[in-house]
Amino acid sequence: MTIKIAVLPGDGIGTEIVAEAIKVLEFLNADMALDLVFESGLIGGAAYDAYGTPFPQQTLALTKDADAILLGAVGGYKWESLDISVRPEKGLLGLRSELQLFANLRPAILYPQLADASSLKPEIVSGLDMMIVRELTGGIYFGQPRGVRLLENGEKQGYNTLVYSESEIRRIAHCAFQIAQKRNRRLCSVDKANVLECTELWRQVVTEIGKQYPDVELSHMYVDNAAMQLVRAPKQFDVIVTTNMFGDILSDTAAMLTGSIGMLPSASLDANNKGMYEPIHGSAPDIAGKGIANPLATILSAAMMLRYTFNRSDAAERIEKAVNDALDANIRTADIYSDGMQKVGTAQMGDAVVSGLKWVSAAKEVG
Ligand code: NAD
Repeated sequence: MTIKIAVLPGDGIGTEIVAEAIKVLEFLNADMALDLVFESGLIGGAAYDAYGTPFPQQTLALTKDADAILLGAVGGYKWESLDISVRPEKGLLGLRSELQLFANLRPAILYPQLADASSLKPEIVSGLDMMIVRELTGGIYFGQPRGVRLLENGEKQGYNTLVYSESEIRRIAHCAFQIAQKRNRRLCSVDKANVLECTELWRQVVTEIGKQYPDVELSHMYVDNAAMQLVRAPKQFDVIVTTNMFGDILSDTAAMLTGSIGMLPSASLDANNKGMYEPIHGSAPDIAGKGIANPLATILSAAMMLRYTFNRSDAAERIEKAVNDALDANIRTADIYSDGMQKVGTAQMGDAVVSGLKWVSAAKEVG
């Protein structure tokens, strides 16, 4: 059966990095008979320029019809003065809510070859490989009532509401347990159950769901401790599951532990594991068009797509190994370059990953 991938390069370096991920996917498509078909659409500033909206109907239809979405990045100087309702970022938010992508997966991986890029000591962080599963469509960012009101004494008061229903907690918990099953089978649920009733319920529901996954070791941690542990001993974690706001903060902390924004992929999944896959970085307008952006975060996002939406861990592992081999061969884009390495551009890095894949294919044939 054919698998449809909607390709949305977006703005800035988006077109350059997505082209490299497609190169990698096309090679595997032929080599492993994956039956992938690609169809491109516009989002963000590019869509605004063509249709006057960052999220056109055509793009919505294309993404609804697809099995997965590969996205570059949106935004740039050109669109910064537009009204907020038509700014490029609105395209992304529209996509997330229209497709009900409630589970945000953010791996933080530090390749030993890049350990010097981290602000932590190499022995603490080298080889880090963890995953944060953040609830993306609920919690305090969406809870009602919200706003700023005028009190009787004339003072203004801001207020937001932290809400989670059992069903919202259950679905993100199932998702996180299933991800842990595909990794090292350890799940840490992060909450503030000692202070917030809403996350006391979170802890109860996650514990209840855990009974259905006896092969996964479940632990709980308060968010303040989790923040400390992430910078003290990050390698203790395999998978973390947490609320929207806690996940927002912890996933950026974890990303920065690796020190290389151009290396980190992400996924946002719906209840059927349909997903949108994208690098965590933005459209980098400062280097757009120069052919020097690092495409590895996008290439690794394509690997996540194969693993989480298409259940092809075999193909995902091939990509991840080819990326690792390119780093072992000292091939580096400018953002991860250090003395003695071979500096390459965006397309050459994509070619290096494809060469790694070809080499494995050829070795298999010989073997
Ligand atoms: P950014 O992530 O685009 O760039 C931050 C810095 O990292 C820049 O110096 C950039 O050159 C560098 N960088 C980023 N990706 C890189 C890569 N692959 N290779 C090499 N260097 C890379 O963040 P920003 O500058 O704050 O935002 C730029 C634009 O991107 C803004 O319009 C912002 O709204 C948008 N943005 C979009 C997304 C998204 O599409 N998901 C996320 C964040 C920011």
